[in-house]
Amino acid sequence: MNSLKYLFFKAHKKQFTITSSNGFHLRPVAQFVTMAKTFSCQIRATFNHQTVDAKNINTLLSLSLEKNDSFILNTKGKDAKLALEKLHALFQILMQNDKEIKTLKKESHKYESVCIEAENICEGVAIAPVYHYEAKEVISKNTLSFKDAVTKALNELETLHTPIYLAQKALLDSLSKECQTLDLLTEATNHASQKLLGTKLEAKRSDYQDILQRVKKHLGIEVKLTFPHSPFILIAKDLLPSEVDLLSKTQVQGVVLKETSTLSHTAILLRSEGVVSLIADATQIPLGTTVIVDAHSGVVLYTPTSSDIEKAKSRINSDSTQQKMASTKRFNSAVTTQGETIKVLANVADVNSAKVAKEEGAEGIGLLRSEFLFKEVAPTLEEQTEAYQEIFRLFHEVTVRTLDIGGDKKLPYIHLPHEENPFLGIRGVRLFQTHPQVMEQQLHAIFLASNNQAIKIMFPMVSTVQEFKDAKAFALHVAKKHQINIEKIDFGIMIEVPSVLFLIESFNEVVDFYSIGTNDLTQYLFATERTHPTLKTDTLSPVVFSAIESIIKNATKPVSICGELASNTKAIEKLIQCGIKTLSVSPKSIAKTKEDIRDV
Ligand code: PEP
Ligand code: MG
Repeated sequence: MNSLKYLFFKAHKKQFTITSSNGFHLRPVAQFVTMAKTFSCQIRATFNHQTVDAKNINTLLSLSLEKNDSFILNTKGKDAKLALEKLHALFQILMQNDKEIKTLKKESHKYESVCIEAENICEGVAIAPVYHYEAKEVISKNTLSFKDAVTKALNELETLHTPIYLAQKALLDSLSKECQTLDLLTEATNHASQKLLGTKLEAKRSDYQDILQRVKKHLGIEVKLTFPHSPFILIAKDLLPSEVDLLSKTQVQGVVLKETSTLSHTAILLRSEGVVSLIADATQIPLGTTVIVDAHSGVVLYTPTSSDIEKAKSRINSDSTQQKMASTKRFNSAVTTQGETIKVLANVADVNSAKVAKEEGAEGIGLLRSEFLFKEVAPTLEEQTEAYQEIFRLFHEVTVRTLDIGGDKKLPYIHLPHEENPFLGIRGVRLFQTHPQVMEQQLHAIFLASNNQAIKIMFPMVSTVQEFKDAKAFALHVAKKHQINIEKIDFGIMIEVPSVLFLIESFNEVVDFYSIGTNDLTQYLFATERTHPTLKTDTLSPVVFSAIESIIKNATKPVSICGELASNTKAIEKLIQCGIKTLSVSPKSIAKTKEDIRDV
């Protein structure tokens, strides 16, 4: 019946060739399917005499498409031609952006004892006794239906908020529509991962197991891992992505996996956690044997001589000295090779992160995200004032942003109306209209805490000059009402809304400074929600740099950047070329950002 619907439509088809060395794997497939679903026409993919529904993530993945494979995409229906064009354009971008993860180069080594050759995942050296992966299925009382367990698993994956887990969410979403019981889901995931055996995408099988395990956990069938309470090297066949999260909380020194690949999600997570790891078959090494894992040279030594241990220890020491050296330079100014000094400030959210920023070498606070100071219950005026005071005391230069609630940021004690498009609704500076009492209390607390210190206040999400004027007038009124002298306080705006780009000359007349929020500016330039699970924008797009260049060219007041772009190694040189003199980054990125600046 369904295919009859398309009977009288002309078929459109095109050949798609996989050019990424990673193949057509879970994350790009998830994005492709998301777009395919927006069209009403029938969309099918044919490869090796097998034709599947290209709106179904699971069936499309089952083709196991690798580099240089070509498949035919067939579209039939009302919007078939457009669908084919758009999907082809997206596919090209996905292939281009899906950069090959380079195998880490191996260094030569001078060990004496027998080595197991390995492929490096995350560089470093570790020495510790071996521990073999051990997992037990623990069954507890189940109170949830299969449907509720799936919903819980989907919600959990959503909150983990990384592309890996969002892709798993899309996969579970699709699988659960076809499988209404745990048995069917088990069968489907086993079947799908079986099909990946022997293909280049074999390492992605762990995503299927991870999804199944997550649903089972909510049905009372939980796989519990046990780890030693002293330092150890973990040896396993493979690990699920979610198990890497658990592992990072233990005393693990290194990991040796037999059946993963450097491209697997497990490998990506091991690298982001900085766990020394490599791929080798070390499963025969007895429990408790002290081994050396050298993920510079790509070897595992299971009967190291004392001289080998000395060599490994000396490499561990020199690695840590290098890290410490970079870290000791964190309090020095960041000066480019051309002698230009760039100020590096911190983005903080509360007293703790402000203290960490101080420790990490921040030269001030470029963005205090005040909405995270009190996450649970509304603070009193005294509580707010005290928190600001504590932060202001730490630095000479502090920029506080007034509450930026709305869109992706919510607080349980600030009620906003339900909106169809919250990113385009009551957000940021617009709270002055809807929640004047909350804003008055916040400004009152900031003024009291400033106690004549020359702090800066900025308003988020400003889109017109009048909005700024109204917010500043409101602030002056609060100061007057409470008889506080705020002469030393500067007022500025975050540049996050594209309209500001065309109004800079008028803003120059009224503001004291600008801070570019590239996270939101990019979202609004490309009309792509920043938290969207599958749609992605190119944060390094020339469009973003043109916008920054134009702001700097036209602004007559100081301009800094406080979006994520400010700590992106690939952006720093360009930002400095655009004329940026101040960057504000997360506390943990300060030392690295300063080093990156020193290389420019
Ligand atoms: C931004 O939008 O770039 C920014 C720094 O603000 P936030 O991420 O808090 O919205
Ligand atoms: Mg923002």
